[in-house]
Amino acid sequence: MDPGLGGLSSQNWPQADRHVSLRTMGLQRRGTSGCSVQGLEKSLEVTAELLTRWFDRNARDLPWRRTQDPYAVWISEVMLQQTQVQTVIPYWGRWMDTLPRIRDLAEAPPERVLKLWEGLGYYSRARNLQRAACQILEKHNGVFPQDPGAILSLPGIGRYTAGAIASIALDQPEPILDGNVIRVLTRFFALEGNPKVRPLNPRLWELASALVEAAYSAEHLGDRRCARVNQSLMELGATVCTPGEQPACGVCPVAEACEARRRGQQERFPELPPRVTITGRFFATGIVEHQGKYLLKLREDTEVNRGFWEFPNWETGPSDPPEAVLSERLGVPLNRWSSLPDLRHHITRYRMTQRVRCASFLPSPDWAKGTWLWATASELESLAMTAAHRKLAVRLAGAFGKSPQLS
Ligand code: SF4
Repeated sequence: MDPGLGGLSSQNWPQADRHVSLRTMGLQRRGTSGCSVQGLEKSLEVTAELLTRWFDRNARDLPWRRTQDPYAVWISEVMLQQTQVQTVIPYWGRWMDTLPRIRDLAEAPPERVLKLWEGLGYYSRARNLQRAACQILEKHNGVFPQDPGAILSLPGIGRYTAGAIASIALDQPEPILDGNVIRVLTRFFALEGNPKVRPLNPRLWELASALVEAAYSAEHLGDRRCARVNQSLMELGATVCTPGEQPACGVCPVAEACEARRRGQQERFPELPPRVTITGRFFATGIVEHQGKYLLKLREDTEVNRGFWEFPNWETGPSDPPEAVLSERLGVPLNRWSSLPDLRHHITRYRMTQRVRCASFLPSPDWAKGTWLWATASELESLAMTAAHRKLAVRLAGAFGKSPQLS
């Protein structure tokens, strides 16, 4: 244990109480357990202090940690869901440069917002950010609400995001529970069961809540202690208590009191259900060129990723010849198509294969209207495109230069 914590160590931990009291905390808080409430509170305070002090010395210097603006924290938290920190850093920087205030987001053209989100996936999140910004403008005069209930009522904001904004930006004793926090807590307390569902999930929320409340009460932990303790859990899960068999327990600030480590069962927790089966999906994708312009189609309101532009594509069976599908849909003669390499990508539980064919062809008049668009290579750069189709556009530019000709 780190000796620089003013005498604090796991010896201060009421061992006899910990495993019983915390694992039955719901009961205990209702006063039906024989365990000591004072012992529980002390345990939580010790944990909160160890974590907070560790965070003070080990926190990564991330750009959104240099601000306490709830809007900036909100954007970072939504971007970080299912996305690596290193990926998010440039996205967050661009977003904050372009839309630095809630009003800027609320009043931005939707296609500009989608363009800033392009490549992060889960595009409904970007749309919800803008809806929420409009709501803040209308209902809260453009000032980010301080009340956790009001934060939670905004479009696209769930319990985790509301807790993260309230604690990190506003230093309120609100809990957070994401994948990293789940891993730390289930290992620390050796909690069995699926952490995503009852009965364990509400218990984890309760533990996370008790921990941040303990930090809130511990005035000696200094300023922004709710923000620091919650971020310490996230940081520990991201950098030390990592998935797999070998978390870095040797440098963990709470190792001496960790039950999974004591049992040598770190890899057992959390007890997540088996991963869903990956399903293959196939698409016939046509790159049609005419006089240096490419045919694009807008994803419509009834489709996922609506508002994004793509090269025309249709889902097919695994053995359907893509040329036949494209010819039937686009009217391009079968013998005009030539092959480009397949593009493979993953979205949630799907492994997608875009089977790409290209053709130079005189366009149908219908393609100049509505959801169809002809764009030059440089115009492609400024349009919001889904990640797979952006890759295709980049490939085209790389293969043929700024004014690519397919034949
Ligand atoms: S001791 Fe190991 S398993 Fe336990 S919380 Fe720390 S890193 Fe995770």
